[in-house]
Amino acid sequence: MRYVILGNGYAALAALKSIRSVDSSSSIVIVSAEKELSYAPRAIHNYITGEKPRAFLYLKTADFYHDQRVETHFGDKAISIDPRNRKVNLESGKALEYDHLLIATGSNVSIPPIPGIRKKNVTTFKTIADADEILSMIAMGAKRAVIIGAGPIGLMACNALVTRSVEVTFVEVAKSILPRMLDPEMAGIIQRHLEKKGVRFFLAAQVEQILGRDEDDSIVGGVVVGNRRIDADMIVVATGVGPNIPFMEGIGIEKDRGILVSEKMETSIPGIYAAGDVVEYFDIFGRRNVVPLVVNATRQGETAGLNMTGFDGKCMPSMIFNAVEALGITAFSVGSIEGEESSVLEGNGRIIKLSLEKSKVVGVQTIGKFDGIGTFFDIFNKGFALSELSLDIIATRGFSYADIIQKAILEIPTSN
Ligand SMILES: Cc1cc2nc3c(=O)[nH]c(=O)nc-3n(C[C@H](O)[C@H](O)[C@H](O)COP(=O)(O)OP(=O)(O)OC[C@H]3O[C@@H](n4cnc5c(N)ncnc54)[C@H](O)[C@@H]3O)c2cc1C
Repeated sequence: MRYVILGNGYAALAALKSIRSVDSSSSIVIVSAEKELSYAPRAIHNYITGEKPRAFLYLKTADFYHDQRVETHFGDKAISIDPRNRKVNLESGKALEYDHLLIATGSNVSIPPIPGIRKKNVTTFKTIADADEILSMIAMGAKRAVIIGAGPIGLMACNALVTRSVEVTFVEVAKSILPRMLDPEMAGIIQRHLEKKGVRFFLAAQVEQILGRDEDDSIVGGVVVGNRRIDADMIVVATGVGPNIPFMEGIGIEKDRGILVSEKMETSIPGIYAAGDVVEYFDIFGRRNVVPLVVNATRQGETAGLNMTGFDGKCMPSMIFNAVEALGITAFSVGSIEGEESSVLEGNGRIIKLSLEKSKVVGVQTIGKFDGIGTFFDIFNKGFALSELSLDIIATRGFSYADIIQKAILEIPTSN
């Protein structure tokens, strides 16, 4: 049996672990577009700030792949799949045969078609290569950055850059920051905190053009937003990510925003599985959704790996949550940011907003300390009705914010 895994991130590693847990002898091949060993994208800001060394980012050593008897093709990407002949074609010209194939190629940053976007010193905030580029721009004297997009990734980039004494200006098309994570009221609290640290925001605004420098038009010198010019030495594009599927055109694999997979993580083509940011899978609300989170990639990779060896396992639905930490303030949200009713409560250095539909908690947003986040997962995932959410339940689960949540229960009118 020969397993080929496209990708070397969380989904790929989880699949590898699953396959090896039941099959120690079959051949496993990992192909990765990047030359790097597997690493944690979520840690690149810690590397840029200098808080952690580059080596900290890596999830595995080179010995790991050797010990697992994995044939690696790093720095060589898959450019097409030939399902009839069960082959993957790589950019280098190599063709790899497979019995079972896993597509775990993650996501791509969507680059908006802004005039000037190809100039030097425009980067994304996704890979180790991006982090190296940002550090090199800072070393070359970059002092002012424009970040396009004020979502969680944009805020992580802001945290890294401000820590490195780079002035940050955000340009965000929505009317408030973190638009898919927090409602405008909660987002406003984060925005004001960042403004106090010198971060500037242009909301409901778009970068219309990227300008060059007087001395060299090929390098970023600023941006045009409305009728204003904002000077900048670098631009970070943080406009969101989407499944990395362009090389799958024409093979008949079913896809929408991402590759569509069954609960077994199998695609519409028998023998080809997919997992991680590249897939569109059922979320906890039962909708098909693309939810790029480590926990989802890992669970899906585990399931795909086992099923590729002949098991018949089903993957749990995708979790939906967001967490961000920037310049001393943290925010977390799970579930919906809208509801028929809501209540904001403050205490113990935390602000909590519960969104409710027919008295059920359908979403929780918090700003403040991260500890006790399990509380909110539980309240949300168990689908508690407010009437069921007694202090006893909260206390027996060791919830650290029992007092605040109890206050929420007392203050929010229930409809049944
Ligand atoms: C800055 C940042 C911070 C994040 N923070 C968090 C966080 O705090 N918590 C959280 O849960 N999630 C976070 N995420 C999201 C998380 O990193 C992803 O959900 C996770 O990495 C997805 O794993 P994956 O295996 O699907 O893809 P990836 O980890 O992206 O791996 C994709 C792999 O595919 C390879 N590849 C791409 N194209 C090809 C090709 N054509 N052929 C072969 N190989 C290819 C790539 O080189 C890479 O090895 C963050 C992401 C970023 C960018």
